[in-house]
Amino acid sequence: MLACRPKPLEVLSELSRSTMTPVHVLQGHSLSAFAGRLFPELVRNGNTPWVLPLGIFHRRFRRAGLSFCPECLATNQLYFRRRWRLSLATTCLTHLRPLLDACPGCNAPLQPHRIEVGSKNPYTSSPLYNCSVCSTDLRISQLDGDADPRLWQAERDSNHLLMHPLCDTKLAAEHFSILRHVLAMLTSSRSRVAAFRFVVADRTHLPIIESWRKSDLNPLGFDAMQIEQRRAFLTAAYWLTDEWPNRFRQMAFEGRLRKSDLTRDFPLMPQRFSAAIMGSA
Ligand SMILES: [Zn+2]
Ligand SMILES: [Zn+2]
Repeated sequence: MLACRPKPLEVLSELSRSTMTPVHVLQGHSLSAFAGRLFPELVRNGNTPWVLPLGIFHRRFRRAGLSFCPECLATNQLYFRRRWRLSLATTCLTHLRPLLDACPGCNAPLQPHRIEVGSKNPYTSSPLYNCSVCSTDLRISQLDGDADPRLWQAERDSNHLLMHPLCDTKLAAEHFSILRHVLAMLTSSRSRVAAFRFVVADRTHLPIIESWRKSDLNPLGFDAMQIEQRRAFLTAAYWLTDEWPNRFRQMAFEGRLRKSDLTRDFPLMPQRFSAAIMGSA
C-alpha cells in the first residue's frame, strides 16, 4: 500500500502551528504565489512552466531542480531562496554572480531535505550548506566570474515584475508569456526556425546557441536544461525582446520567418505580441 503524502495545505497548517505564522503569509512565500503572473496555476503532480523539474524518484531528486549562490549561503541568512527553484533565475541579484545548479564536489543535484539521511547521531545537525551526498561545503564553491551585467539587469527587472505587489499582474503575465514563447522559438527543433536561431547566435556571440542541435532538445524543454544553457538562451531571449518590437521583428525578417512561424504554438498570444508581428510576411 502506498504511503499517504500530506496535502500542501496540511503541510502549511503544520508549519503555521510550529512557526506561529498565519497560513496566508506562508502561502505568500510559496511558489503558488506566482500563479497569475508566471504561470496559470502551480501543478502539484506534474511540471509547472518556469519551475525547475526535480525528477523525484523515491524522495531523491534526479534533476538539478534547485540552484544556489555560494555567497548567499555564506551569509547569516542560511536558507534556499524561492527564486532558486525557477528556471528563469540564473544569476544572483544580490552578488551579481552566476548561480550554480549542482554540487561542485560530486555534481549531484542539491537535496537539502536529505542532509540528515544516514546520520548516526540524532543530536547533531549537519548544516544546510553541506552537500547531502558528499558533504562538500557549498559556500566555498568556485564561481565562474561575474554575471553578464545585461543579463543581471534583465533578471532583476523580471524579478521586480514577479515580486512587486504594485506591478500590474496582466503586464507581468504578458512579459513572461512572450519571454517563454521566444525561448521556445530559440530552442525549437523545427527546421524552419533554425535560420532565426543562427542569426540570433551570430549577433549575440553565444556559442551554446550556435551549436544547438535538435538532438540537444529534451522533452521538458527549457526548464530542464542545465543552467549554463538556460543562461545562454535567456541572454538571447532578453536581447531579442529588448527595444520591443523592432529588434525581434528585424531578427525574424533576417531569419526568414513567416507570420505562421511566429504564432505557432502560441494560443494565448498577448496583444503586445500580435501587434508586434502585424505586417510580418
Ligand atoms: Zn548571492
Ligand atoms: Zn556533493
